[in-house]
Amino acid sequence: MNPTDIGVEIENAFPLVSMPENSDLSFHSKGCHDCDEIREDLEYYRDKEISGEVIRLVQRYLSTLSAKATCWILPHYLRFCLTPEAEYNRMETEFLIYALGPTEEFQEETLNRLSLLNQIQILCLIHFLEWCFNQEYWKDYCPEELDRGIRLLRSALDSR
Ligand SMILES: [Zn+2]
Repeated sequence: MNPTDIGVEIENAFPLVSMPENSDLSFHSKGCHDCDEIREDLEYYRDKEISGEVIRLVQRYLSTLSAKATCWILPHYLRFCLTPEAEYNRMETEFLIYALGPTEEFQEETLNRLSLLNQIQILCLIHFLEWCFNQEYWKDYCPEELDRGIRLLRSALDSR
């Protein structure tokens, strides 16, 4: 799959959605330091453009987001991963690959986070990871995470 094909698939599968209410942004609603922090940080960007700056803020917090916030950020995040800026930095894509292909202890939580995505979106994420896997850099750099992610997403697809 070439960049144009995956770009078109992302456009179709992940239309932009608005940011959830503040209390719905984080995995834990309150009393957790990381979650409190990401809610506060993201609130600043409500109704603003989701630039690379925001993606780089979110990248470290991907495993702190709620299922609703995941639905909100993924359309922006996936589009961003296809830009020259992402190709140059690599970090943003790397964090997404890690978030989608966690070790076994975090897999249930990850499935929970992806629980509001539909079948077409899960399939698109599989294709995104396959697209990464077809690139020499990612294939050499994190083959295990890519493989884990693809297997986890396939299991999510089977349960839908
Ligand atoms: Zn938390």
